[in-house]
Amino acid sequence: MRLIFLGPPGAGKGTQAKRLVERYSIPQLSTGDMLRAAVAGGTPIGLKAKAVMESGQLVSDDIVVGIIVDRIQQSDAHNGFILDGFPRTLGQAEALDAALKSRSQKIDLAIELKVDHDRLIDRITSRALEARDRGEEVRKDDDPEIFKARLEAYARDTAIVAPYYKDRGLLVEIDGQQSIDAVTEDIQKALSGLDKN
Ligand code: AMP
Repeated sequence: MRLIFLGPPGAGKGTQAKRLVERYSIPQLSTGDMLRAAVAGGTPIGLKAKAVMESGQLVSDDIVVGIIVDRIQQSDAHNGFILDGFPRTLGQAEALDAALKSRSQKIDLAIELKVDHDRLIDRITSRALEARDRGEEVRKDDDPEIFKARLEAYARDTAIVAPYYKDRGLLVEIDGQQSIDAVTEDIQKALSGLDKN
């Protein structure tokens, strides 16, 4: 099963993707996590991506497409994967389709978590406070000003990706403002419909 989570930063994509990893035994591929690891490791990609990420802008398509195309060819992704935070532009969506097509593969479903932007700012502020309370380092890009830049990047470049999948009959929209369990339940319903097809 090849799934994509769409939705603005803070919508709960990572949380829900992790729940599916356990259930379906397929990996969660988060470009944000991979890029943060590259930054922490000081790799050439990390060096290029660091300032862009810290300003809340998008890393270039060629970098993230390269990362994902490599990653989906690894053996643990043969039975499927859950993309979290990719694709974030139309160019990334098209490059993903081309990479999958060349291997006779396709996306089964794109799940869009819909959350009002005001609600996201509240969520991200509490995410930062909770991380601080746990003694963890707070993500620089969870700073409220940078977070606004991330929301703007979403509106400018990423909001257009959901219609791309809708046009292909692959999109399911879910109310991401419900409780985490209620969102998981709606996702399960959408996926069970898929199993029956
Ligand atoms: P995330 O953890 O998904 O919110 O990603 C954190 C940051 O990594 C984003 O604000 C971008 O700077 C960068 N990033 C992650 N995924 C992508 C992507 N698919 N395209 C471009 N930039 C990305």
